[in-house]
Amino acid sequence: MNTRVYLLSEARGLSRDLLGGKGYGLAEMAQAGLPVPPALIITTEACRRFLREGAVPGLWEEVQAKLAALEGLTGKRFGHGEGVTPPLLVSVRSGAPVSMPGMMDTILNLGLNLEGVQALARATGNPRFAWDAFRRLLAMYGEVVLGEKAEVFEEKLSALKERRGVVSDAELSPEDLEELSFQYLHHLEARGTPFPMDPWDQLQGAIMAVFRSWQNPRARTYRRIYGIPEDLGTAVVVQAMVFGNLGEDSGTGVGFTRNPATGEKGLYGEYLRNAQGEDVVAGIRTPEPLERLKEYAPELYRELEGVALLLERHFRDMQDFEFTVERGKLYLLQTRAGKRTAQAAVKIAVEMAKEGVITKEEAVARVEANALPGLLRPAVDRDRAPEPILKGLPASPGAAVGHAVFSNEAAERFNAQGLPTILVRPETTPEDITGMYLSRGILTARGGLTSHAAVVARGLGVPAVVGAEALRVYPEEGRAQVGGLEFNEGEVLTIDGSTGEVYLGAVALVESAGEALLQELLAWAEPHRRLGVRANADTPEDAQRARAFGAEGIGLCRTEHMFFHEERIPWVRRLILARTPEEEAEALERLFAFQKTDFKEILKAMDGLPVTVRLLDPPLHEFLPPLPDLEEKARAGDEEAQALLERAKALHEQNPMLGFRGVRLLLLRPAIFRMQLRALLEAAKELKEEGFDPRPEVMVPLVADPKEVERAKALAEELFQEYGPIPFGTMIETPRAALLAAEIAPLVDFFSFGTNDLTQMAFGLSRDDAGKFLPRYVEEGLFPFDPTERLDEKGVGRLLRLAVEEGRRANPRLKLGLCGEHGGEARSVQFVADLLDYTSASPFRVLTARLAAAQAGLKGPKALAR
Ligand code: ADP
Ligand code: MG
Ligand code: MG
Repeated sequence: MNTRVYLLSEARGLSRDLLGGKGYGLAEMAQAGLPVPPALIITTEACRRFLREGAVPGLWEEVQAKLAALEGLTGKRFGHGEGVTPPLLVSVRSGAPVSMPGMMDTILNLGLNLEGVQALARATGNPRFAWDAFRRLLAMYGEVVLGEKAEVFEEKLSALKERRGVVSDAELSPEDLEELSFQYLHHLEARGTPFPMDPWDQLQGAIMAVFRSWQNPRARTYRRIYGIPEDLGTAVVVQAMVFGNLGEDSGTGVGFTRNPATGEKGLYGEYLRNAQGEDVVAGIRTPEPLERLKEYAPELYRELEGVALLLERHFRDMQDFEFTVERGKLYLLQTRAGKRTAQAAVKIAVEMAKEGVITKEEAVARVEANALPGLLRPAVDRDRAPEPILKGLPASPGAAVGHAVFSNEAAERFNAQGLPTILVRPETTPEDITGMYLSRGILTARGGLTSHAAVVARGLGVPAVVGAEALRVYPEEGRAQVGGLEFNEGEVLTIDGSTGEVYLGAVALVESAGEALLQELLAWAEPHRRLGVRANADTPEDAQRARAFGAEGIGLCRTEHMFFHEERIPWVRRLILARTPEEEAEALERLFAFQKTDFKEILKAMDGLPVTVRLLDPPLHEFLPPLPDLEEKARAGDEEAQALLERAKALHEQNPMLGFRGVRLLLLRPAIFRMQLRALLEAAKELKEEGFDPRPEVMVPLVADPKEVERAKALAEELFQEYGPIPFGTMIETPRAALLAAEIAPLVDFFSFGTNDLTQMAFGLSRDDAGKFLPRYVEEGLFPFDPTERLDEKGVGRLLRLAVEEGRRANPRLKLGLCGEHGGEARSVQFVADLLDYTSASPFRVLTARLAAAQAGLKGPKALAR
C-alpha cells in the first residue's frame, strides 16, 4: 500500500501537486531550518480518491501512526493532558496545489474536549484562554464539519456580551466563556449534530470535511474565476497548534518579503498582538503595520527580516508568509508566492533579475500577461479632485468610478443594466465573491491590507480601498454613513486604490503613465517573440494608442462603426431605403466621403504598417432605429418613419447572427462593396501623393464557400485594375470555411481567423445569450473555462490548426492572423504563437499579447536547452 501521509521531514522532494501549496511550503521551510510547528500532510491523491470512491482504505491507520509521531515530536499526547503538560491540539488545514485564499476552511484547536479544557487551563494557568480555545473550536467545528451557520454562534456570543454589558470579547470572564461553550454544545446536541468529544472522531470528521470542502460553491466559484482545474483536489495539513493569544508577548501576523501593492523591496506586513491568526485574515480587527514592531519588539522585527531574506533566497520569489509568536517564540505557519498587483509583479520580476536572484528569461516568464491591462488602469486626476469624504488603506491600485452597491444581488442588478458598481461592505467574505467580481472597485470599512477584500481585489485586478474606519455600512438598509454624511445604494462613488481616498460623485480620471519598468521587461521579452502583434482599432485614436503600445499594424478595422456617427446614420438609412439606382448612388457618394476621411486618418496613424480593413459585416437592419420608436413615429404621421418601419419589417431576421450579413450582403449589394473598397484605395492613393507610406489590406467576413471568395475577389479586381492591387484576404470564421481552407487559400493573400464567430459557430452558441448558462457550465465543470474568453484549443483550435495546415499547403505564401477577442488573451496567444504569423488585440491588450507571445517563445526548444 502506498504512503499517503507524510511528516514534514519525510516530504522532501515531493511535489506541490501532491502536498498542496501549504504542505509544500511548510515542508520546504522546515528543511530550510525555519521554525515550523510539527505537522503531517495527507496528500491530494488521498483527497481525489476520497471524492471518487467515498473512502480511502488504510488512510486512517496511516494518519494514526503519523499522529503518534507528532506526539513524539511535541512531547504531548493527543486528547490527553498529563500533569502540567497540556494535550496536543492540532489545526486541520486545507491546501490545494494552487493557492485559494479563504476558499476552504481551517479548524483550530482540534483535540479539545471537556477534560482537555481542564488540562489546558491547568497547564497554562489560564482558564480564560482554555475556554476561549474550546468555544472557538466548537464554533469552527460546528460550522465546517457539522454544517451549522456561523451566525448562530456569533449571535450567542453577542447575546452573552449584551447580558454582561460588555463590548469586546476580551471583557468576558472564564466563566462566561465556559457558559458559552455549554450553550454551543447544547445547541449542537439539540440540532441532532452533537460535537464529538472523542478527539479521534473530531479528527476524522475534520479531515473528511476538508476533502469535501473542495466541492463547496465558494471554492468552485474561485476556481472558475481563476481557471483552476476542477480535478486537482486538496491536501490536508494536520499541524500542532501554537498560540498567539497567550498574552501581550504573543501575537500573529502576515508578512510579505516585498510590498505586494507597489513591489517595493523590504519586509512589509501586519501584526495583531494577543490574537489568533484567523483574526487577521478575517479582517475582524484591524492590525498594526509590522513596522511598529521596531519600537516595542525590535528583536522580533530583526528575526522577521532574517526570515524574509531566507524565504526569498529559498523560494526565489516574493513570499507571503503567516506567522505566530507564542510567548516570544516565532513560528512560521505558511508561505507562498505572494499575490501582487500587476505593477508589483513587473517591478519585482525586473528587480529580482537585476539582483541576480532570477534570470531575465524567468522574469519575463513570471509576469502574468493577462494582468498587464491593470498596469494601465487610470488614476484620479489630483488637480481636479475635490476633497475626499473618506480615507482608508490603499489595497489595490488604480481608480474606479461606479454606483455604490451593498450586496451581490444589487451588483448583479446594476451590472445587468450596464451600470458599473463599487461594492461597499463592512468587510468581505468569500460569499461576496460575485459582487466583487462584477464590480469596478471594492470599499470596506474594516480589515487590513491582507484582509480577504484586499487579497481578492489584487487577484482580480480591481481597485480597492479597505479598512476605511470612519465608514459605517448598513447592508440590509442599503445605506452607509461617513460622519454626518450619508449615501445610499446607487450613489456614484470614486475610489482611489493607490491612495486609499474615496470621493462622492464621479471624479475626473487620468490614464496612467507608461511604465518604465514594464518597457524594460518587454525589451527583455522581445527577442523571444516570433508572433507578430497587431491591434483591433476602428478609430485614429485607437490606432495611435495601439501603436504606442507597440502594435505592428492593425489586424482588424471594423468599418461599420464608422456608419454609426450622428451625421452619417441618416445616409446609411437612405441607402437602405433607396428605391432607384440614383438614390442609392447619392447615399453611397456621401458615405464614400466619410469613409475615405476615416481611412486616411487611420492609415496615417499606422503609417508604414499594415492596416487590415474588414468590409461591412452586420446586417443592414442594425442601422435602423428600434422598432417601437419607428412604430410610434409612424403612428404620429412621420412618413420617413413609416417607410423605415416597412423596410425594418422586411429586413427583420429571427437570427441575425446567421443572417443576411458579411460577404452575403456584400455580394448581393455590390455597390456597398465597391464604395468601401474604393474609399480605402482612394485614401491610400491620396496619402501616397502626400508623401506617406500607407499599407492597406482588405478582407471579407463570414465566407463559407470558395465561390463567395472568388466572386468577391473578382469585384475587388475591378478596382485593383484602376488603383493597383493590395493584399486581399478572407476571414475564417465559419467552420465550413476552415474545412475548405485548401480551396480558399489559393484565392487569397491571407486568412484572418475571426475566433469570436468561429467559437460561436463551433459550439453552436451565441455570446449574447450564453451569459444565461455559460458561467454555470463552467461552475459545474462541464467546460473547463469560458470559450468566449479563452480559445478552446480542443475544438475551435482543431479547426484553426486544420485550416492553417491545409491553407499553407495550398498556398505557401498565405499569411495567417487572428483577430477575435482571444487575440489579446495570454493563453490563447500562446496557443497560436507557433501556428500563425500574427495576432491582433484590442489596444489595451497589445502589451499582453506581446508578452504572452514572448513567453510562448521562451517555452520553445531554446528554453528547454538551457
Ligand atoms: P487559509 O488557507 O485560509 O490561509 P490556514 O490554514 O492558513 O487557512 O489557517 C488560517 C489561520 O489559522 C492561519 O492564518 C494561521 O495563523 C492559523 N493557524 C493554522 N494552523 C495553526 C497552528 N497550527 N497554530 C496556530 N495557528 C494556526
Ligand atoms: Mg493561511
Ligand atoms: Mg465575425
